Amino acid sequence: MRITGISENAVRLESKLRNAAFSFDEMTTSIVAVTTDVAHGGVPVTGYAFNSTGRYACGAQIRDRLAPRIMKAQAAGKLTIDPTGFDPDAVLAAMMVGEKPGGDMERSVGIGTIEVAIWDAVAKIARLPAYQLIADRYRGGAVSTDVFCYVGGGWYLPGKGVPQLLDEVRRYLDWGYTLIKIKVGGVPLDEDIARIEAVLKLLGDPRRLALDANCGIGPDRRPAYARAIAPYGLRWFEEPAHPVDYRGNAEFIDAYGGAVATGENLFSVEDVVNLARYGGMRPGLDIIQSDTPQSYGIGTLARMLDGLAPLGWSAKDVLPHGGNMMSLNFAAGFGLGMCEAYPDAFGVFSGYADDLQLRDGILRVGDWLGFGFERQKDLFALMQKTG
Ligand code: MG
Repeated sequence: MRITGISENAVRLESKLRNAAFSFDEMTTSIVAVTTDVAHGGVPVTGYAFNSTGRYACGAQIRDRLAPRIMKAQAAGKLTIDPTGFDPDAVLAAMMVGEKPGGDMERSVGIGTIEVAIWDAVAKIARLPAYQLIADRYRGGAVSTDVFCYVGGGWYLPGKGVPQLLDEVRRYLDWGYTLIKIKVGGVPLDEDIARIEAVLKLLGDPRRLALDANCGIGPDRRPAYARAIAPYGLRWFEEPAHPVDYRGNAEFIDAYGGAVATGENLFSVEDVVNLARYGGMRPGLDIIQSDTPQSYGIGTLARMLDGLAPLGWSAKDVLPHGGNMMSLNFAAGFGLGMCEAYPDAFGVFSGYADDLQLRDGILRVGDWLGFGFERQKDLFALMQKTG
């Protein structure tokens, strides 16, 4: 197959949500469409992806450098994409020509989003779900068909108090979710404790509640958070320190003791392995998170898992950041521990295929082609405007 075009469209998320570190008022994401010379039913097969949430649109890099490099490599006969033996590393190598090592995030979001969109196209050409193509390449074909999904919610919003937070959590429970994560660190500690205790009372079991600080708690406040929250025995505490402050992460773990999750803001294999080596993280207890469209794509997630394995980490200890059809396919294809869900946080960029039914917090993957965006009507309508 040949790629005939790569297009990008920046879309505003239209969200007023806030975590401990920033608000989403200005947040955008890039939808990428990769068209191919393979036609199904007379229509060229097109692969789609978007660059998750939390990092801004990356159209400049895509237009100026990344897409032209793929077209140039194809024209020179240096890049051939064979859907029956798809090699994502060749696509990555073509986009990395002329790139200086380090400073990964300037390009990893654009590269990852294009790479994921190419997987979507290749899976459709192979008439397979993306999770199956991933499992075939990296896991001997074994798919985790039932994926446990937890909600990443409990956002701060202007005027939102404990009653509104409880309404939000009740909504998630009504929809069938059983494990809920709420934000912390965006208000004084005593207010966070009141939020935690109220949600805990509703959920009844500390293992059903996780917290996310989004790196928004400074070193001066961290010991107090560790001391105050440790006794609750919650499921995990997420991003207590800056993403590359490995010592800060390790010191928090020492003080806190309970499970910690982090890694969604790391963008290279080297950074993730360094987190495992120097961040105080404990395999089997703690969780490493990864945002694949933002960190060079699926081939790089496979290398991250390979880099973590000798340090005692399995795919079950790794969770995809973001709640969408891409992260669901990654979780099923690689056998990751569970999947995040944003049932109502980011408009059309939230949630899964319209016909998927959640049962006791579990989604069973379907027989879609590629990532299955076609089965998410409103998002797919927006995607079709790209390209
Ligand atoms: Mg998070």
